[in-house]
Amino acid sequence: MRRDNIYSITPSFTRPTRVKWYSRDNRNLSRIHSNKTNMEIIKEKKKDLGKETVRRLSGVSTEFNKSFTLRLFKNEEKYDQMIAQVGIEVMALCEHHLLPFQCTVNIAYIPSGWIMGLSKFARIVELYLNPTINTVQERATQQIMNQLKKLKPKGAMVVIKGTHSCIGYRGIRKPSVTITSAVYGVFKENNNGARQEFLQLIK
Ligand SMILES: [Zn+2]
Repeated sequence: MRRDNIYSITPSFTRPTRVKWYSRDNRNLSRIHSNKTNMEIIKEKKKDLGKETVRRLSGVSTEFNKSFTLRLFKNEEKYDQMIAQVGIEVMALCEHHLLPFQCTVNIAYIPSGWIMGLSKFARIVELYLNPTINTVQERATQQIMNQLKKLKPKGAMVVIKGTHSCIGYRGIRKPSVTITSAVYGVFKENNNGARQEFLQLIK
């Protein structure tokens, strides 16, 4: 019974959090809207859950699903090489089994007109991969890429290595690493070394 209740509440967490992208001159570039906040969803399910559980769930949800502002900066240095952040560790929740999977996320982009702060790599990752959102690794990989595309980069690449407990500790019971990637722009071109350079970095 309790398991059913928990199952029914978690899919609701898939609603995306609100994010606002602003350029330096405060032009609003785009937004992701959620129809309901996580708090609203929890209130709806409240009668099925214990009081303390509601309180704790609210706390965890708020901790991970905060709205935030991404400010884009003009690439005044005219930096035209790869900006990569590798080894971003996050815990996520598989939507098929509601079991956790551990992810190492690696991101790179080659800027053109815009760059973003270094902390924003992890912010974007945590938007789609955190323990309160049930998802699949493939979708999260593309969602992260879609956010990077808003920088209008020359190219971008996302590689996620995931260790899924649903195949490691139940079912087939074979601990292993699942690798997904999203590739855009110059990273797709065969004669461009960007893709090889990035793959070398995350070996
Ligand atoms: Zn699974």
